[in-house]
Amino acid sequence: MTECNRATTELQEEMQNRLSVNPDACLCIGNFGFIELEDTWGDEATIINTARISTTNQRLGSAADFTDRDRRLLYQLLRDQHGTPFETIYFRYRFIAPIFVLRQWVKHRISSWNEFSMRYRKPISAAYIPDLEARTVDGFAVLDEEAMAEYSRLMGNLFFWYEEQYTKACHRIEDARSHGVLPPKEGGRDPYRGRARELLRNALPVAAYSDVYWTVNFRSLMNFFNLRRKKDAQYEIRQYADAAYLLFSRRLPLLASVMEEVLAEKRNSENLPHP
Ligand SMILES: Cc1cc2nc3c(=O)[nH]c(=O)nc-3n(C[C@H](O)[C@H](O)[C@H](O)COP(=O)(O)OP(=O)(O)OC[C@H]3O[C@@H](n4cnc5c(N)ncnc54)[C@H](O)[C@@H]3O)c2cc1C
Repeated sequence: MTECNRATTELQEEMQNRLSVNPDACLCIGNFGFIELEDTWGDEATIINTARISTTNQRLGSAADFTDRDRRLLYQLLRDQHGTPFETIYFRYRFIAPIFVLRQWVKHRISSWNEFSMRYRKPISAAYIPDLEARTVDGFAVLDEEAMAEYSRLMGNLFFWYEEQYTKACHRIEDARSHGVLPPKEGGRDPYRGRARELLRNALPVAAYSDVYWTVNFRSLMNFFNLRRKKDAQYEIRQYADAAYLLFSRRLPLLASVMEEVLAEKRNSENLPHP
């Protein structure tokens, strides 16, 4: 793998920092992946209070006030797919994942995205390297060590090529400036370097890592969990979905346990296998 550039080193430092200040809300995934549940808005009480608007003026302060009756209502709402109360609580995750995982994730349209820009910065010079488990199907490694050595070399070469070409482009731009061919750089973004970054990123693989803030309501998050934690979802996005689920269940254990109960009943009634 090529030497890390500044964006990558800063990201590594940031992940270490987040792991030390917020250890229960962060997980590392694969060779460079990371996820953190940074913030949540609302809890189980928000869902119950919202649902009760049509029946009573009684409101709960927090999940700590829950009685068995409140839990039963939460269960019924989930079981009977009363959707909108579950849209009133929100989660913001930050994750660092390969671009091919992001392409699957972004299909979950009922959510909001902010992603690292390779127009304004050089790319994160780290690519996803599948470990033995990721490469193995029914005990058979579909890519062997030799293939993996070649894969890693190829990724390293691509990042190296980017750095080399970008450095050359910057020299060409500065040279043209010093000869008065191009105007001097003014404050803000350099349009010439910017255009070089816009074009050079096209040569990078979908295994390259990117960095995303993902804000999502609980109804949509449940849909994400249901679709991306299933066995037929691709291994890599499943790892992220499982990690996102674990962090969610640490933050809102009551909601997670009710959700598990509803899912287990659904599986039993439909005779589906347990995960
Ligand atoms: C195993 C697997 C394989 C997949 N393979 C492919 C693939 O080959 N190619 C591909 O492109 N995608 C593929 N997908 C993505 C899939 O088609 C969905 O886009 C993705 O799972 C997001 O689900 P969603 O639409 O329910 O989520 P969201 O986009 O978050 O939508 C949530 C819900 O809102 C409603 N909704 C959203 N948008 C609309 C709309 N325009 N019209 C009506 N209702 C809407 C629907 O009820 C939807 O369930 C795959 C997904 C899985 C899990």
